[in-house]
Amino acid sequence: MRIGVLALQGDFAKHIEMLESLDVEAIPVKKPEELAHCCGLIMPGGESTTLVKLLHSIDLFDKIKPFSQKWPVFGTCAGAILLSNEVANHPVQSFQLIDISIRRNAYGTQVDSFSESIRADLGSGPEALEGVFIRAPQIERLGDGVKAIAWHGDDVVMVEQGNILVATFHPELTESNRIHQYFVDKVKQML
Ligand code: GLN
Repeated sequence: MRIGVLALQGDFAKHIEMLESLDVEAIPVKKPEELAHCCGLIMPGGESTTLVKLLHSIDLFDKIKPFSQKWPVFGTCAGAILLSNEVANHPVQSFQLIDISIRRNAYGTQVDSFSESIRADLGSGPEALEGVFIRAPQIERLGDGVKAIAWHGDDVVMVEQGNILVATFHPELTESNRIHQYFVDKVKQML
């Protein structure tokens, strides 16, 4: 089982480390051929508008949707923005793969980065985890088929629908590999 991490921007190396800590083979993905050999994909944070441009420039943009019909895709922060059906406050060309509306840079400029406790329900009861939010987006609307799985206060910060998993924070920047484990389990179910 090999999981790809989109390696165009952001802290993709940390995602690879997290997957390796779970004994999963992880490769940086920069080309369509590399994606073709994966059975799951993580889209890390970065700058969503720049990521769209980079994805087009290397011919990967059109490959993501067909890939997600077969294999799970996990978007964190800017990756979450790219997977959303609707970006409320900015014309980002998103993949529209999960029925949520998301607002970019929703926490404003003064408190635009913070690390706080979040509550998650990853299938074995409620648990507290650390959530690192960096110029994070906020989920404003969830469609009927979308399941909430983590919360920061009253805000839903992690959701899933079918093969798509989305977190508005950076799980790769904490000590815990719990959320990556959740994604790995999702991939294993598809093998
Ligand atoms: N603010 C960025 C954007 O709008 C996302 C930030 C991040 O990925 N940490 O694309």
